[in-house]
Amino acid sequence: MKCTQTATNPNVGDADARTGKHCVTLIPGDGIGPEVTEAVRRVLSAANAPIEWEIAEAGRNVFEAGVASGVPRETIDSINRTRAVLKGPLETPVGHGGKSANVTLRKMFEAFGNIRPVRQLPQIRTPYSGRKIDFVVIRENVEDLYAGIEHGQTPDVAQCLKLISTKGCDKISRLAFNLARSEGRRSVHVATKANIMKKTEGMMKRVFEQVARDYPDIKPKHVLIDNCAHQLVVHPEQFEVIVTTNMNGDIISDLASGLVGGLGLAPSANIGHEVAIFEPVHGSAPDIAGMDRANPTAMLLSAVLMLRFLGEGAVADEVEAALLVTLSDGCGFTLDVADGRPVLGTRAFADTIIRNLGRRPEGWVPRAHASLAIPAQAERVVFAPAAKQEVVGIDLFTAFDGSAATLGRKLEQLAGGSGFRLKMISNRGTQVYPDRGNRTDCVDHWRCRFVLDQAAPTVPFEKISLLVNRFEAAGIGWMHIEKLNRYDGEDAFTKAQGED
Ligand code: NAP
Repeated sequence: MKCTQTATNPNVGDADARTGKHCVTLIPGDGIGPEVTEAVRRVLSAANAPIEWEIAEAGRNVFEAGVASGVPRETIDSINRTRAVLKGPLETPVGHGGKSANVTLRKMFEAFGNIRPVRQLPQIRTPYSGRKIDFVVIRENVEDLYAGIEHGQTPDVAQCLKLISTKGCDKISRLAFNLARSEGRRSVHVATKANIMKKTEGMMKRVFEQVARDYPDIKPKHVLIDNCAHQLVVHPEQFEVIVTTNMNGDIISDLASGLVGGLGLAPSANIGHEVAIFEPVHGSAPDIAGMDRANPTAMLLSAVLMLRFLGEGAVADEVEAALLVTLSDGCGFTLDVADGRPVLGTRAFADTIIRNLGRRPEGWVPRAHASLAIPAQAERVVFAPAAKQEVVGIDLFTAFDGSAATLGRKLEQLAGGSGFRLKMISNRGTQVYPDRGNRTDCVDHWRCRFVLDQAAPTVPFEKISLLVNRFEAAGIGWMHIEKLNRYDGEDAFTKAQGED
C-alpha cells in the first residue's frame, strides 16, 4: 500500500508539503510484530500523529517466498522513497544460510548509529526501581566484527575480521555528542577495549577524544568496556550517554535494558545519513505470538523516538505521557511486567493508553529534545590520510603441523637471500619462536613475521612471491599475508605477546 504522496522525501524526516504528513514505511514483521504494530498504529492514529503509513514486507514470509535477503525490492523502493521506517521484529532463519533481514536493512541503508534509551518507567518493578536510571547507549551499527567477514583459515582455525574505521568512529562519536546536546546531557562516556585491541578499539578512543574537542560544553570520559559492564550493574545512575563499537554495544545495550525491566520496554533507533529505522529491541517472541500477550511498549516508545526525529515533538510528548500515566495508574500491565498485578492483553493495554491521551503524569517534566543533528557524510572515501606511508615487513600466516622450533628453523633457511629476515613466529598472538620459555598449546595457525632490512615506501610483489613460492616448494601451507605498515612514523601493527 503506497502513500498518496509519491515524490521521494528530499530529506529523512521531511513532511509532505501538501498534506503536512510524514510518509513512513511500516514493516509489521513476524511473530508478535503485527500485534504490537497494530497497537501502535491505533495509539498514533488516536493522537492524530501526522503520519501516512506505507506498509511493506520483510522477514519470514519473504524468506519462504525464496528471497534470500528477506527484504524484497518493493520494500527497498519504499524505504528509498520515505526514508523513515517503523519496523516490527523480523525472524532470522536458523539452520540455513540466510542472513538476518534486520542486519541487511541496517547495512543497506548505512544506518550507522543505533540509539537505545534506557530509562526507568513508573511502576515497573526491577532490582533497580527508584534509582532514576536515565541514559542512552549509542552503538556503532555497521562495522566491527559485524562486518561479517569470516574465513576458515585451516580446518581447525576460523577468523573474523574486526574492521574499525576513523570515518565510522568519527560519525558515531559526533552522533553521541549531538545527542547529548539535543537532550541537555552533560557527559558522554566512550566504552572500549583499547588496552588490548590498540589499533581497532584504540582508534575508537583516539577519534572520540579528538571529536570531543568540538564539544567543549560536554565532558568526555573513557571507560574500559568490561568495567563499563560492571559499573552498569553497580552504579548505572552515573551514565548519561555511552558510545561504543558494535560488538560492545550489542552486549551492554541488552544488559542495560535488563536494568529497567526487559525487552518488552526497550525501544531503539537506527540512524543513517539518509534513512532512519525505528524498532523495538526485542525479537518476534514466537512463543507468545498471536496470544494477545505481547507488551507493545517497546514498539510504542520506538514510535515516540520516530515522532521526535520527524520533528513532531508535541505528539511524541503526548503519546509518551499517555503511556506513563497508564503505567503510573497501575490499573493493568501486560503479563511480562505485571508481577502479580492485574494483567491486560496487548489490545486492552493499547486501549487504556488511548483513553489516557491528553493526561500528564503527576510531577513528570518531559526531557527537552532539540532536533538531533546527523553528522554529515564525508565526501571522500579516504578520511584521514597519512603524509608518509612505509612498509617494514610482512606477516605471513601459515598452516603447519609440527613444533614452533621446527617451523622456525625451516623458515630461517627459506628466508635466506630473500631480502626478509624472520623476526618471530606467534601462535594465536603469543610469540613461540624464538623460544621465550612459555607453554603455549599451539594450533595449526602460525603468524610468521618477516622484516625488511630497512623500511621502504612499498614492498615489491615479486619479493613477497619469492618467499611464498619457497614456502610452497617446502610444503608449508599459507593462508594470507599482511603488510607491516608504518603511517607517519608510527607502527600500524601490534607486537605479539612476548615480542620485543
Ligand atoms: P525475543 O523474540 O526477543 O524473545 C525472547 C523472550 O522475551 C520471549 O520469549 C518473551 O519471553 C520475551 N519478550 C520479548 N518481547 C516481548 C514483548 N514485546 N512482550 C512480552 N514479552 C516479550 O528473542 P528470541 O526468542 O531470541 O528471538 C526470536 C526471533 O526474533 C529470532 O528469529 C530472532 O532472530 C529474532 N530477533 C529479531 C530481532 C529484530 O527484529 N530486531 C531482535 C532479536 C531477535 P516469555 O517467554 O517470558 O514470554
